[in-house]
Amino acid sequence: MIDTLRLTAEEAIGLLERREVSAAELHGAYVEAIAARDPELHCYLTTLDEPNGPGIPIALKDVISTKGVPTTAGSRILEGYVPLYDATVAERCKTAGLSLLGKTNTDEFAMGSSTENSAFGPSHNPWDPERVPGGSGGGSAAAVTAGLAPWALGSDTGGSIKQPSALCGNVGLRPTYGTVPRYGVVAFASSLDQVGPVAKTVRDCALLYSIIAGRDPFDSTTVQLPEPVRLPDAEDLGGLRIGVPRELNEAEGIEPGVKEAVRAAIELATGLGAEVGDCELPHSVEYGLPCYYLIAPAEASSNLARYDGVRYGPREPGDTFREMVEATRDAGFGDEVKRRIMLGTYALSAGYYDAYYGQAQKVRTLIRREHTAAFESYDVLVCPTSPTVAFRIGEKAQDPLAMYAADLLTIPSCIAGLPGLNVPCGLSEGLPVGLQLVGPQFSENTLFRAGHVLERALGFDTVPERLR
Ligand code: GLN
Repeated sequence: MIDTLRLTAEEAIGLLERREVSAAELHGAYVEAIAARDPELHCYLTTLDEPNGPGIPIALKDVISTKGVPTTAGSRILEGYVPLYDATVAERCKTAGLSLLGKTNTDEFAMGSSTENSAFGPSHNPWDPERVPGGSGGGSAAAVTAGLAPWALGSDTGGSIKQPSALCGNVGLRPTYGTVPRYGVVAFASSLDQVGPVAKTVRDCALLYSIIAGRDPFDSTTVQLPEPVRLPDAEDLGGLRIGVPRELNEAEGIEPGVKEAVRAAIELATGLGAEVGDCELPHSVEYGLPCYYLIAPAEASSNLARYDGVRYGPREPGDTFREMVEATRDAGFGDEVKRRIMLGTYALSAGYYDAYYGQAQKVRTLIRREHTAAFESYDVLVCPTSPTVAFRIGEKAQDPLAMYAADLLTIPSCIAGLPGLNVPCGLSEGLPVGLQLVGPQFSENTLFRAGHVLERALGFDTVPERLR
């Protein structure tokens, strides 16, 4: 019997290498786990029962194009769409031998923080199925926590890898912008979108990052990594300078239990040899959200113009071309997507462009600069990943602003193009709390080292109590 709940990717690779299991048995064990637990959790939109690679399995968020396998981005407007090609990240997983288990649920076009905006219904948090797994990549995060995939890929525009990892109690990396190819990934906001790994351990996360990262001729924003990815094996934090940005640790809305778990983790870091000090990111909390909610919808309104009933998916009838496009977009997009298209179109319209989009780009520069300044004194900045633990399904669904606030602490580093790692650091009210580690561009190896040492010292059990 393979215990998929506890098996890490590294252990699974070991089992295969020692020929203790076959790739088919491994794939089969996850398919069985999916059959047993996914009816309750709804992590997957599509599953592949047959093994299709010689290596260990993987799940991909349903915004990643997979040749011959439906890709919906959680939207009715892409229902029935089967890509003719693989996204570069999917192809790199194939080349590495990984066997695709399926495509995971997401908020429609990755817009949301709970998966409740998925046109196919929400995913559920394995720690408490009445609660959300976070979003938009809640399907990937919940699947890893519930043993329905050893690891998975998500995509993160303003927090969609880090926040679901925090709410589900696992490890998630949003990589440095430009290190992972976006070719073939359904575009939300192109200057922010980045694909990254979700896993049970920091080492697994580093390993998966090494598979997907690196320059791609099909994505001109990608670069070669300045240094190879190192699997972390450090045992202390000697020499590491950790900054604690006051605004991100004391922001309004951070639950006391979250603050407490993060504070304890910071204290632990001091004991492990890190030098810890305070710092400031004065504009990040106050202006991060408004800046993001102009830039992301503006880019989305342009990216989503391609869904016109001609190029992809279903089509609604109409007497003229215009009526057909309107009817298709009206029926195919959900409320949140329409809200973003309207916001973005408005922010980009003549006469308002400078006041909204142009101004937001200036604020983005400010936020980037204040991060650069903080990294003159520190190697890593820490704060909670999410201000709250997993909230109840339905609790914020009718209140877009409350939902947007879930990303208050993940958004600033995304705007600045910086890498961020979520490491589970404890429980509050019986639910996981995530610690966010942010570093300068291309500092993934430093984040892995710090995350690995902390993860071992914290000893967080990634298997939810109710599944143990
Ligand atoms: N929750 C944020 C949003 O709704 C971030 C989503 C994401 O990172 N894809 O835009």
